Amino acid sequence: MASETEKTHALLQSCSTESLLSSLGLGLFCTVADRLLQFPIIQQNAWLRALSDNSVHCVIGMWSWAIVIGIRKKTDFGEIILAGFLASFIDIDHFLLSGSMSLKAALSLPRRPFLHCSTVIPTVVLTLKFTMHFFKLKDSWCFLPWMLFISWTSHHIRDGIRHGLWICPFGKTSPLPFWLYVIITSSLPHICSFVMYFTGTRQMMSSKHGIHIDV
Ligand SMILES: [Zn+2]
Repeated sequence: MASETEKTHALLQSCSTESLLSSLGLGLFCTVADRLLQFPIIQQNAWLRALSDNSVHCVIGMWSWAIVIGIRKKTDFGEIILAGFLASFIDIDHFLLSGSMSLKAALSLPRRPFLHCSTVIPTVVLTLKFTMHFFKLKDSWCFLPWMLFISWTSHHIRDGIRHGLWICPFGKTSPLPFWLYVIITSSLPHICSFVMYFTGTRQMMSSKHGIHIDV
């Protein structure tokens, strides 16, 4: 276990100016990106609309994870790309539910597809964490449940602006206000960093990412 001094330094790292500015940038990106997507040239083309919407999910996932780990090594980009992939790939459930590659069918489903149920997030994250612990999987993958949590939560919160959050089997909330989406998305990486620090994941990642802990 890390000492109190180590923990304090790890905590301070997640509150660094660099990290706070990155969150501010993320909030700004969220605000601007969704305004840009309203342009008629994008709205009039279903595929362009779907692809650009999905790309915004991807960028938010990448940006959020970059805030958590800080980019210090070339190898960090692999993780950041994985976070972006996780944030965007869940829209595949639209096609799985429609049973075809038709975008029209995927966008006119009778109900929301299963990966958009927010209860799935804690279920999958906890199952993954338990499985990794049970099978004593490598410490170098200890970040995966957290990455999944951030990527999927950011996707659900953004979709929540239009559709609300679907907390199955309890029902769904009304659409989230835009300002709430921006605040949650930009503070999520910091909230995760704090929780990761309390659960010890961050200390485990410190040697891998050079999250600098001086004693
Ligand atoms: Zn979605």
